[in-house]
Amino acid sequence: MTRIAVLGSTNMDLVAYVHRAPRRGETVTGREFRTVPGGKGANQAVAAARAGGKVSMIGAVGSDDFGARLRAALADAGIDTALLRTTDGRSGTAHIVVDDEGGNAIVVVPGANAAVTSLTPEDEALIATADSLLLQLELPLSAVIAGAEAAHRHGVRTILTPAPAQCLPPELLASTDLLIPNEHEAVELTGVADPHAAAAELLRSVPEVVITLGSAGCLYAARGAQPVTVPTRRVRAVDTTAAGDTFTGALAVALGEGRPVADALAWASSAAALSVQRPGASSSMPYRPEIDAL
Ligand code: AMP
Repeated sequence: MTRIAVLGSTNMDLVAYVHRAPRRGETVTGREFRTVPGGKGANQAVAAARAGGKVSMIGAVGSDDFGARLRAALADAGIDTALLRTTDGRSGTAHIVVDDEGGNAIVVVPGANAAVTSLTPEDEALIATADSLLLQLELPLSAVIAGAEAAHRHGVRTILTPAPAQCLPPELLASTDLLIPNEHEAVELTGVADPHAAAAELLRSVPEVVITLGSAGCLYAARGAQPVTVPTRRVRAVDTTAAGDTFTGALAVALGEGRPVADALAWASSAAALSVQRPGASSSMPYRPEIDAL
């Protein structure tokens, strides 16, 4: 089994469904409220576990009820949480308002995630045994850099999702093997709108790039090779939340199994195409037999 370590965020998503979002100073009545385990790190961990990876999560939850629920949700997905710390205080929360047109507005309060500023020796030992380390930018940058550098030292593939988009320090890029921005993040990182040009720009800093392009699939580029566009399936999308996280989790598993890049990209695209046909974040992520069947 492919071993995947995830160093990333866990948040409880607090989702209110409204006809339209309130303006400043206004109160509106919502239709429904849900609490859903989330966070980009945890979402990628669940996606990789369902795709057949042996996944360990490094990060932190709070000592509140949400923390216990977040830990239990990861454990239920078969993810090792031994290195998921519990810190005094609140778990990370994402306060999400979804309107009738599917638009959303989100406030993320990092809570316990903010306490993960560095790696412990146990974290590094775990990363050293993994095939890939998955990183995003919802933990303090100091921890993300430490994780990437540890993975790099041990010859572990480092896969970075640059979200939420921000300027990437050179030492992080120097330890990144595969960068997976979506098209918006690619523009933010490079200032270039055309994905081919953005990929070429990003290849100056990292050896491999996948830019995900929503319903248009993804663009894969590596140094010294022609970029390739991998189309996705034509499906009726009902909710694209966490499509990118599903794609990344599945891709890490397929690459870890030694599949050729083209196969791995097609398989990850199938996983993501399944996820967009179902509502929710982790609830929409497919299990390995479903991906294989497609
Ligand atoms: P995104 O983060 O929106 O770029 O999406 C990540 C991946 O999910 C894409 O590369 C596709 O493989 C898949 N995907 C996203 N939206 C759709 C869609 N509407 N139809 C099919 N696949 C999709």
